Amino acid sequence: MTDRYTVMGNPIAHSMSPQIHAFFAQVLKDDLTYDTTLVPEGQFVATAKEFFKQGSGCNITVPCKLDAHAFAAELTPYAKSAGAVNTLKKQEDGSILGDNTDGRGFIADLKRLGQNVTGKKILVLGAGGAAQGVLRPLLEENPASVTLVNRTVEKAQKVAAPYGDSLSVDTYQNLKPGFDVIINATSSSLQKTLPAVTDDVFAGAELVYDLMYAKDGVTTLLSHCKDLGVKNCFDGFGMLICQAALAYELWRGVRPDTDQAVAHFRPQ
Ligand code: NDP
Repeated sequence: MTDRYTVMGNPIAHSMSPQIHAFFAQVLKDDLTYDTTLVPEGQFVATAKEFFKQGSGCNITVPCKLDAHAFAAELTPYAKSAGAVNTLKKQEDGSILGDNTDGRGFIADLKRLGQNVTGKKILVLGAGGAAQGVLRPLLEENPASVTLVNRTVEKAQKVAAPYGDSLSVDTYQNLKPGFDVIINATSSSLQKTLPAVTDDVFAGAELVYDLMYAKDGVTTLLSHCKDLGVKNCFDGFGMLICQAALAYELWRGVRPDTDQAVAHFRPQ
């Protein structure tokens, strides 16, 4: 029987995951189906149980990542430290494994883009689900320092607590220039606004990566940073492809070619 996969969330019709996974499967000549599953409010567990009667694995998107974290019988270290799950897999004994491939997808995209964060001073904006997913894989790259800022400071402090001295928390008001890399893990670009960071801080960076993605690759923040002369400005489209490739690898044991997929979905 053909293995079945899906992406669960609400809303879900907008998700690009079915197209991305269909492309991976087509290139790899793999036999699978991948569709979307709308999760009615408060119905995650029932929906996931029903799916896994036959399904092999699924991706999880807003607002179900915390529910999926609670649902999984076993969690990878990345899912544990992110506190959220974006990928579920039915294991051979029928139990459900939860992983979080968002942060590793981010690092994989940086590498794909020829960017290196080892030894760099890094500023992470935001302390929501995306920031939490990124922190552990980021620290594994041995940056010189990682500073976390968030509008709601207490949230940043809570998110940073498990990492001890390897991470410092600051406020938007305190920020001074001196960061090599700035990662926007806020949803500011979604609202077409800028995080409250002064221009000199952005202008001093060699790389600004906005986790949000835009059709033309230029989010509100990246447009601003380009105007300020930042050389390397990237949106999160490659991260979307790379996190999907890592999920595919978890399920199927083979990692799809992410360069090929980015070129397919975003032709130059
Ligand atoms: P959450 O809702 O969990 O967190 C939102 C974060 O943004 C919070 O830290 C919030 O601060 C902050 N924030 C919101 N608006 C502003 C603003 N105007 N100025 C400053 N801070 C703001 O969202 P996620 O963490 O899930 O997603 C964040 C972004 O990452 C989104 O744009 C999403 O599209 C993107 N993303 C991209 C992925 C990819 O594959 N490329 C994967 C996952 C996410 P506070 O706590 O103070 O409210």
